[in-house]
Amino acid sequence: MPNRSKKDFSDDFSDGFSDGFPDKPLASPDGVKKNKAARLSFPSARWYPLLGALAGFMLILLFIGGAGQDARARMSIPHEEWLQADLHPSAITPASRIRSERLHSGDNAVAVLQRLGFGNVESHRMVLAANASYQLKSVRVGQVFKRVDNATGTDFYYNMDARERLHLHQDAGTHDWQASVEKRKIFSRQRIASGTITGSLFGSSERAGMDQRTTMNLVNIFSWDIDFARDMRSGDTFKVIYEERFDDEGKPLESSILAARFVNQGKQYQAIRYQQINGDVNYFTPDGKSMRKAYLKAPVKFTRISSRFTLRRKHPILGYTRAHRGVDYAAPRGTPVHAIGEGYIAFKGWKHGYGRFILIRHNNRQHSTAYAHMSRFARGMKRGKHVRQGQVIGYVGMSGLATGPHLHFEFRVRGRAVNPLTVKHPPARPVAKAERDRFMQQTAPLLGLLKQSSSAVNWG
Ligand SMILES: [Zn+2]
Repeated sequence: MPNRSKKDFSDDFSDGFSDGFPDKPLASPDGVKKNKAARLSFPSARWYPLLGALAGFMLILLFIGGAGQDARARMSIPHEEWLQADLHPSAITPASRIRSERLHSGDNAVAVLQRLGFGNVESHRMVLAANASYQLKSVRVGQVFKRVDNATGTDFYYNMDARERLHLHQDAGTHDWQASVEKRKIFSRQRIASGTITGSLFGSSERAGMDQRTTMNLVNIFSWDIDFARDMRSGDTFKVIYEERFDDEGKPLESSILAARFVNQGKQYQAIRYQQINGDVNYFTPDGKSMRKAYLKAPVKFTRISSRFTLRRKHPILGYTRAHRGVDYAAPRGTPVHAIGEGYIAFKGWKHGYGRFILIRHNNRQHSTAYAHMSRFARGMKRGKHVRQGQVIGYVGMSGLATGPHLHFEFRVRGRAVNPLTVKHPPARPVAKAERDRFMQQTAPLLGLLKQSSSAVNWG
């Protein structure tokens, strides 16, 4: 096909499932064999080669439960102190009496109120008074009701969620119940952890006092530069400054890394968290370069490549040899497809053998990426729409010419498809020149902390 380069490659629908893929060794987009990950000795280790920048949310969500338990066990500040400090300072006097009761299975709100010493009629009045703010009858098993009595009257508290609390106050004179919804206080503290890798990353970071969530965050931040499955070595060191947030009962809410350093095989990487004037929060190097790249390594998470980029391939459906100008990611139907970079939708719709197809034109105008065979598009997708890096644009399927569910993905430079697995990705946008000074000012204290020797650091 000598005139091939003149054609619009979007007409090239040569695609499908490569045959025999189930027997192939699983390889990541960058060709890392999964058995190299063995030394991480963590349940998720085998995903690492695939994680790249995509690691994020799924894993974090998976570990929030466990991490919460750990952090709770290690909490050094007594929770009751916090709670009392936050519960209406005026209401807590030495004469106050605090009682609490938990909702058991088969229990109901009125029964719990009665265990707190409220009479039957009183309990119903309380539920009624609360109704406009919160339906006490829908309270779930395990939740706690609190009663505080003192000279000015009686108070009842129920934590609706991590951010809000229902407060019922009964005036000592009128005996009327007043309901209000109060903001719960969020407590935060800064911690510093540092250590040397011996054995696994998760083991080493745990010894340094870090919870798994924070370790995952650390991996995510540096995943653009360090392949933790392949490149990490015993003797590598890390230092992490992070902020943990808790609700007023000491339950961990979230943790975010403010600054981190990782020395991998003698090479030092540093990252600083910075909120830009436009509100975006990102991690940058101390001199303001983005830790991220402009493009994710792959548009589908936790998947495997079933067919690579090649200029000659026997087509599984059409039977004759044609080029395969993209990469196929085998994944179950319905798996989310992510835009690998920020840009605008240049095409959305049905395109010949590509089936349901989206073409994104990226910010530098020379690059575009193509996503084919989707089962459906994400809501709101339309031509001209702006998409962010990582945004879900559709779902894996087998529309068009395909023998099984997979995403056919192309990376085009000036309209011409190149191998997405070998193309060099440019860095994401650095700190804007206009806010350079602001960046330097805000990050200087954290950088200073990062530079201090570990022995000089007080544990938070
Ligand atoms: Zn394909």
